[in-house]
Amino acid sequence: MEEVVEGTTTVKVAVRVRPLSDKEIREGGTECVEVTENSVTLVQENQQPHVFAFDHVFGVDSTQPQVFDMLGMPLLDKAFEGYNATVFAYGQTGSGKTHTMMADRKSDDRGLIPRISDNLFQRVGSLSSETHKFLICCSFLEIYNEIVYDLLVPRGKNAPKTGLEIREGKGIGVYVKDLQEIVVDSSDKVLKLIDQGFEHRATAATQMNATSSRSHCLFIIKMHQKDEQNAGNNNFSKMNLVDLAGSERASRTGAQGDLLKEGANINKSLSALGNVINALSSMASGSKKVFIPYRNSKLTRVLQESLGGNALTTMMAALSPSKTNADESLSTLNYAKRAK
Ligand code: ADP
Ligand code: MG
Repeated sequence: MEEVVEGTTTVKVAVRVRPLSDKEIREGGTECVEVTENSVTLVQENQQPHVFAFDHVFGVDSTQPQVFDMLGMPLLDKAFEGYNATVFAYGQTGSGKTHTMMADRKSDDRGLIPRISDNLFQRVGSLSSETHKFLICCSFLEIYNEIVYDLLVPRGKNAPKTGLEIREGKGIGVYVKDLQEIVVDSSDKVLKLIDQGFEHRATAATQMNATSSRSHCLFIIKMHQKDEQNAGNNNFSKMNLVDLAGSERASRTGAQGDLLKEGANINKSLSALGNVINALSSMASGSKKVFIPYRNSKLTRVLQESLGGNALTTMMAALSPSKTNADESLSTLNYAKRAK
C-alpha cells in the first residue's frame, strides 16, 4: 500500500563532519574528508575523489549554535506557521548523531533538541496573550527491532512483546495508540522528560542486552496554537526530532542470530526512510503525482503524517573524518545524496 500526498514538502540535506577522535588518531586515522559550505569531498587512496553537494555542510569546527541556526530555526519557523517539521540524524555509530541532536543537554555544548525546546518557549512567551494561546505536549518513543516502545513509561518485565500499535483513524490519520503525550509549559519540563526517557531507555536496553545505537529514538513536540485575533488561525503542528539507529551494515560487524535480525531490521527501516524521502524530494522538484511508500517500516509509518504535505524534512548526515571509516562515510554520503 502506498499513499499519494499533496502539498509541497521541502527536503533539506545537511552533513556534519566531527573532529578526529583520540581513538582514531591513535589508530593512525588521518582525515579523508574535505568540506566547503555546500560540498563534501571524500578522498580515498587510488581512487578519484568523490564530490557531493548538499544544502548545508558543517565542518569539524562547526558549533552547536551554528547547527541550531541553520537547521533548528527553520524547523521552529515551520512549526509556528502550523506545519510539521522533522530532523533525522543519520550515520554510523560514533559519527556524531547524538552529539548533534542532544549532547550534554545541560551544558553550553547542548545540541539541537534542547536548543529547539529553549527557543520554542521563548517564542511562546513573547507571542502568548489572552487571545493567542499555546498548548504544547511531548512524546518520546523508540523503535527497536520494528517494535515501538514508549520511552515515557517504564518498560518493566511484563511489557507486551509487541509494543505499541500503529493505527489509522478517519480524520486523525496515522497515530501510535496509547503513546503518552505529556503537556509541558517550560523548557525545564521538556528536559526532565528527556532525562526520564533516557533512563527508561537505558534500563530497557540493559534488560534486553541491547545498546541504544541499535534503535531509532524519536522525540516529538506537538503544538496547538490558537489565535483569536487572527481568524482561522487554529494551528496544529508537530516537530519530530529523530536520532536514527547506527547505519553500519550488519555484515561489517559479523553479526549472527538475533543480532543479524536486528541489523536486517535497521537496514530495512533506513532504506524505507531513504525511499520515502527520495519520493518526497522528487515530488518537490516537480514530479506531479508520486507514490510514497510509507508502509514499509514502522519508522516511516509513525512519521507518515509529518513527512508529506507542506512539511519540512531535514536529513542530517553525520560523518567521521577518519580514513579508517572511509567506506562507511562513502555509504552515508550516498544515502544522503539520494535524499536530495
Ligand atoms: P553517535 O550518536 O552517532 O553514535 P556520538 O554523538 O555519540 O555518535 O559521538 C561519538 C563521540 O564523538 C562522542 O564522544 C561525541 O562527544 C563526539 N563528537 C561527536 N560529534 C562531535 C563534534 N561535532 N565535536 C566534538 N565531539 C563530537
Ligand atoms: Mg548515539
